[in-house]
Amino acid sequence: MLWWRSTLKTLVIKESALLSVILAAIETFKNECYLILLGRKKGCKFIAEYAFPVQTAKRVLTGIDLIGRREKALLGAIKYLPKGFQIIGDCHSHTERGEYKYLPEPTEEDKKGMKKGSVYIIAGITTQKSAESWRNNKEGALAGTFGKNCKGRYCFEIRAFWSPEDCEAVPIDIFCPAAKRLSSA
Ligand SMILES: [Zn+2]
Repeated sequence: MLWWRSTLKTLVIKESALLSVILAAIETFKNECYLILLGRKKGCKFIAEYAFPVQTAKRVLTGIDLIGRREKALLGAIKYLPKGFQIIGDCHSHTERGEYKYLPEPTEEDKKGMKKGSVYIIAGITTQKSAESWRNNKEGALAGTFGKNCKGRYCFEIRAFWSPEDCEAVPIDIFCPAAKRLSSA
C-alpha cells in the first residue's frame, strides 16, 4: 500500500458532518454505515459541510451495497441543492466483530471505488473501557470516544484519504476544531 501522507491536501470537517458520521457509525455498529459528503473544494482544502447517511444502503460487516435505483434518485435530488455545494466524496465505517477490529484503512475493494479528485473518510469504530479526549493523532486522523454501550465506550479513529488518480488512496490530515466539544460526551 502507498502509505505516505500528503501534506498538500487537508480535509476540514464541519461539526454537522462530524456528528452525522459519528451517529451513523453508532447506529449501524457492527455493520458498516455509508454517507455521502457534501461540501466544497477550495484550493488544497476539502470542506465537508454535511454528511448524509444513505439509508437504503444494504449493510454488511465488510462493506455496503448501494441499491442502484435509489442511489440514482438521491444523486438526482442533490443537483437541486444551493449553488456552491457539491459531492466531494463519501464516508463509510470499519467496525469490529468479536475480538477482531477492522482498521480504518482502505481495503483493495474500497480503493476500486475511489475516483480521481475525491475525498474519502473511513471511520473506525470499536469499543473500549476508557474515555479519550478528541485529538489529532500522529497519523493526522481524528480520534476520541463518544457515547457508550454495555461493552464500553465507542472509540473512533476517523481517517481521510484523497485520490490523486482513480483507485488511489493517499492519507491526508483532518482539521476539525468542533471535535473538542465532543470530549465530555
Ligand atoms: Zn472499507
